[in-house]
Amino acid sequence: MKLLQPPIVPQIEIFDACKSSVTDASFTARLEELRPYVPQISNHYAQHASTDSLHTLVSAHHGHPEQVISINLTKGDLTSLYEKHMVSRSPGRAHYDNLLLSAPLSKCPYCGFGQVSTLDHFASKSRYPLYSIEARNLVPACADCNKLLGSAPITEDSPFPHPYFGDPRIERDTWLHASIACTSPTTVSYFVASPETWDDQLRLSIGNYFNDLQLKRRFAIEGNSAIVEISDTLRLMANLEDRILHLRSMAAVDTSRRRNSWRAALSRALAISLPYVNGGYLQ
Ligand SMILES: [Zn+2]
Repeated sequence: MKLLQPPIVPQIEIFDACKSSVTDASFTARLEELRPYVPQISNHYAQHASTDSLHTLVSAHHGHPEQVISINLTKGDLTSLYEKHMVSRSPGRAHYDNLLLSAPLSKCPYCGFGQVSTLDHFASKSRYPLYSIEARNLVPACADCNKLLGSAPITEDSPFPHPYFGDPRIERDTWLHASIACTSPTTVSYFVASPETWDDQLRLSIGNYFNDLQLKRRFAIEGNSAIVEISDTLRLMANLEDRILHLRSMAAVDTSRRRNSWRAALSRALAISLPYVNGGYLQ
């Protein structure tokens, strides 16, 4: 999980950009009625997201595009404002593209290895259509993470870290670990062990993140592939001391880059695996 800086573009600019490509007079009139409340709605979202209380927002029914959400605007109106006027048409599309580009190196902040190709609605647009074009609800993500995150209502007992408002301890503390099995070939498996100092809510949140995004399986695919390359490098080193030094340096560099990436957890596990450095790298 990579925490991102929340977008700073005023929400009214995004709203006006999307509204400007609406050609239906009745739809435009309804959007004009909502316009004075846009900053308030945006602040309402940020306030709830920053206090882990998005679950207290009222969620819309499953389906039912005719459901009125706010000031004569239906769920269908609000989702089409995103789909037709932010994703598909200028000038709303420029804001969509800026949010896509906000992920460092175009890597998905959820998994850290997928390429950003879409925007994920942290609070899904089908359940929380009022926030369908809210910038701080739109997270650049890869297609796999976006699909796995689904569109269920947010509940109090299933917290999930918000990339724009997540607890800084998610990046500061070590909670992702790996273990090495020197089988043929050598493989890695990942697990979460949160620090003792964490409260239950944060532990639950990071556990949900790891499970919902199927990261045990997805990280292992990346990690097993990396082991092949790392082992190739170690084979060039005749001395045990050189191999140990190489793995320790790799662990230090990867951890300083991103402490809880699949790569950093793998490097740390390899650096302390005597079976691996003594011969597992030959498997
Ligand atoms: Zn991803």
